[in-house]
Amino acid sequence: MAANPIQIVPLRADAIAPVGAPQLTYRGGPLLTSVEVFLFFWGDVWQQDPQAALVQQLNGFFDFVLTSSLMDQLSEYSVQGMPLGHGMRIGTTVIAGVPPANVADADIQQFIQQELGSDPAVPQPTPNSLYYVYLPPGVTVGLDGQSSCVNFCGYHSNTGNIFYAVMPYPDCSGCMGGLTVLDALSSTSSHELCEAVTDPIPGQGWYDDQNGEIGDICAWQTKQLNGYTVQLEWSNKQGQCA
Ligand SMILES: [Zn+2]
Repeated sequence: MAANPIQIVPLRADAIAPVGAPQLTYRGGPLLTSVEVFLFFWGDVWQQDPQAALVQQLNGFFDFVLTSSLMDQLSEYSVQGMPLGHGMRIGTTVIAGVPPANVADADIQQFIQQELGSDPAVPQPTPNSLYYVYLPPGVTVGLDGQSSCVNFCGYHSNTGNIFYAVMPYPDCSGCMGGLTVLDALSSTSSHELCEAVTDPIPGQGWYDDQNGEIGDICAWQTKQLNGYTVQLEWSNKQGQCA
C-alpha cells in the first residue's frame, strides 16, 4: 500500500466496526520517535480570514498536542531502540498561489519536493520530519482512484524518506462529522499524526491486517483535550479505543 486514508463519516456506525479483536503488530519499519511537524498551507486564501485565523488555531493545536497525553498514549508502541516521545511543531508557512481544483497525490509530493528545493525557510527532512499539507476550500485531492470528501478526509504517506500528511479542507458533510471546521481538522489531523508516528511507511510499522492503522480502528470517535477535539486511538494494552 502506498498511503493510508481516513474514511469519510460512515452513514451507519457499523460500517467502521472493527473486524474481530483489533491488534496492531509491529512490522519492523521506522517510527517517528520525536516527531518534528512542519505545516504547509497551500494557497492565497490562507492569508485571509476565516482561513488565516484557522492557521493560527492549528498552530496552537499542534503546539499543545505534540506535548500532550495524546503523545504519551503512543509510548506503548515504543520498540527496542525507538522510544516514542513528545514532538514539536518546527514551523508553518503559507504558500502563495492558487492550487488546481483537483490535485493528485503525485502533485502533493512534487509540491513538497519543490518547496524543499527552493525555500530556505522550509526545514530539510530528518528521520523525524512530518510535513502536513493543508488544502484550501474547493480543492479536491485524488488518491488511488478515490477522492477527498467522496471517499476520504485526509491521509498520510511517504515518498522515500519524506513523510507527509494531506489534509483537504473539510467543506463537505462527510468530512465535518457534525463538528466545526477547526474541530474536524484537529480530529483528522490527530488521526494522521498518531498514524504517521506509529506507521510512517504505511503497513511497515504498527498495523492490523484487518483493521488498518491505530487511528482507523477508532475513526470518528473523539474526545476533548485542553479544549481541542482529538480522535481516540487504538490501545493494544487496554484493548479499546482511548
Ligand atoms: Zn487512518
